[in-house]
Amino acid sequence: MASVSASCSRVPARGTAAEPGPAPIVEAVEGLWIQISRIEHHAYCPRQAVLIDREAWTDSRETVRGSIAHASVDSSAKDHRHGLKIHHAVALRHDRLLIRGTADTIEEHPDGRLVPVEHKSGRATADTTPAVLQVVAQALCLESMTGRAVPSAAVFFMATNSRLDVDVRAHQSALESAIAELRLNLKSPRLPPWTSQVQRCHKCSIRLGCMPELAGRESA
Ligand code: SF4
Repeated sequence: MASVSASCSRVPARGTAAEPGPAPIVEAVEGLWIQISRIEHHAYCPRQAVLIDREAWTDSRETVRGSIAHASVDSSAKDHRHGLKIHHAVALRHDRLLIRGTADTIEEHPDGRLVPVEHKSGRATADTTPAVLQVVAQALCLESMTGRAVPSAAVFFMATNSRLDVDVRAHQSALESAIAELRLNLKSPRLPPWTSQVQRCHKCSIRLGCMPELAGRESA
C-alpha cells in the first residue's frame, strides 16, 4: 500500500506520537488542516479539542496508557495474520475534507477490501462516538487516496480484546458535520463551553488547564 506523506499540520500533535509533526506556518494558516485525532477530541468535548489545539495538554494516566498501547501497533511495517495483510502506522489524508493523520492498522483482505482499525487501550464506553468518528475519518481518507470504496472500519478495545465493527456510511454525515463544527471552533477566538457531561471531566487529560469547576460561574 502506498503511504502518503502528511508533512503539513496546523499544530504539533501532542500525546499522539504516531501522527505527523508540525506544519510550516504559512501552510498551517492558509490550509486549516485538521488532525484526525482532533475529531475524536471534539466528539468527546469540543472545548477539549480547542484547548489541545492551543497546546493546553498534559499527560494523564489515560493518555500515557494510550500512548503505550499505540506503541505496540505503531510501526510502519506490514505483517500477515489470519490470512490478512496488516499495514501499520499508515499516513492518511483527505484533500477535500482537509484532514490527515495516521491509521494504527489497515487490514487488506484477500478480496481486496481495506478496513482501517483504530486501537484503544481501554474498554468500550457507553458512548463510542468519538472513536467511531475517528475511524470513519480514516476510512474516508483511505477511499480518497486509493479510489476504492471503504465501507467498513473497526475499533479494537485492547482491555477487553473486543472489536466494534463500524458502518462507515452510517456515520459519514455526522463526521462531516463534526469536522465543520470543529473548524469553526478552531477559528474562533472564544473557547467552547465546558461539557455538560461532567463525568467526562474526571478522565480528561487537560482538566487542570480547563478548570471545569468554574462552569456555571463564569462564561467560557
Ligand atoms: S475538563 Fe471537561 S469541559 Fe474541560 S476539556 Fe476536559 S472534558 Fe471538556
